[in-house]
Amino acid sequence: MTNPNSDPIRAYYHTLLSTWGRQHWWPAQSRFEVIVGAYLTQNTSWTNVEKALSNLRQARRLSLSGIRRTPQATLEKLIRSAGYFRQKAQRLKTFVRFLDRRYDGSLSRMFAQPTAQLREELLALNGVGPETADSILLYAGNHPVFVVDAYTRRILERHELISPRAAYDEIREQFERALPLVAAKAAGSQTERATGTPATRPRGSSHPPSRMSTAPRSPIAQVFNEMHGLIVGVGKNYCLNSRPQCDTCPLRDFLPNDKMRRVTSA
Ligand code: SF4
Repeated sequence: MTNPNSDPIRAYYHTLLSTWGRQHWWPAQSRFEVIVGAYLTQNTSWTNVEKALSNLRQARRLSLSGIRRTPQATLEKLIRSAGYFRQKAQRLKTFVRFLDRRYDGSLSRMFAQPTAQLREELLALNGVGPETADSILLYAGNHPVFVVDAYTRRILERHELISPRAAYDEIREQFERALPLVAAKAAGSQTERATGTPATRPRGSSHPPSRMSTAPRSPIAQVFNEMHGLIVGVGKNYCLNSRPQCDTCPLRDFLPNDKMRRVTSA
């Protein structure tokens, strides 16, 4: 029988989940809000995105019809805090036009498409790279794709699990190969979903539970969802670009010894 911890990625998952519990990604009340957030978070911090989302909400524009009827210039003003606001306003308009033309304005019809096909369609849109497409697929559509971000790459590189030249899809597939075993176990016991966040040690990148974070999804989508949130927790709090905090990081036992000396003294 395969040991669930025999793969380092599975071992990271179990370690981080038992340390921090559920992370409750993505913090949103609707699928469309996830999509807007996925566009707005490009090249900026989530705090700036939250301001833009709050402006859209207050102006009653945080919906498909809201973005559709909002003139470009007004949209730019509303999302200004997220940076690159002209580009992002244009891209949001492009997404709504795509949805209207291809799926008659229906997110349900769009998300009913096979994962690979929809991923290709999203990637063909202006301003949608793999991370944005996969965030939309996973967090808005509950499609089983793993989201790779800069933190994922940095952690795996420092742990010598990937080469510095590893392609996005190569890293994504590494997670997508490792985690189904975790999902199969979780589906059998249901304990990991039901346990919730431990009362102590609440670090990581956890959000309060939201309508989208608690929406029903397949065990594998749940594990991909959780793993990405846990990785962000490591990246934001420990695996900093210039000064990694290996001594206190929950993943320190997985760092090759000689590498640990090199990273901590860098
Ligand atoms: S901070 Fe150190 S131990 Fe933690 S993930 Fe980064 S390199 Fe690994």
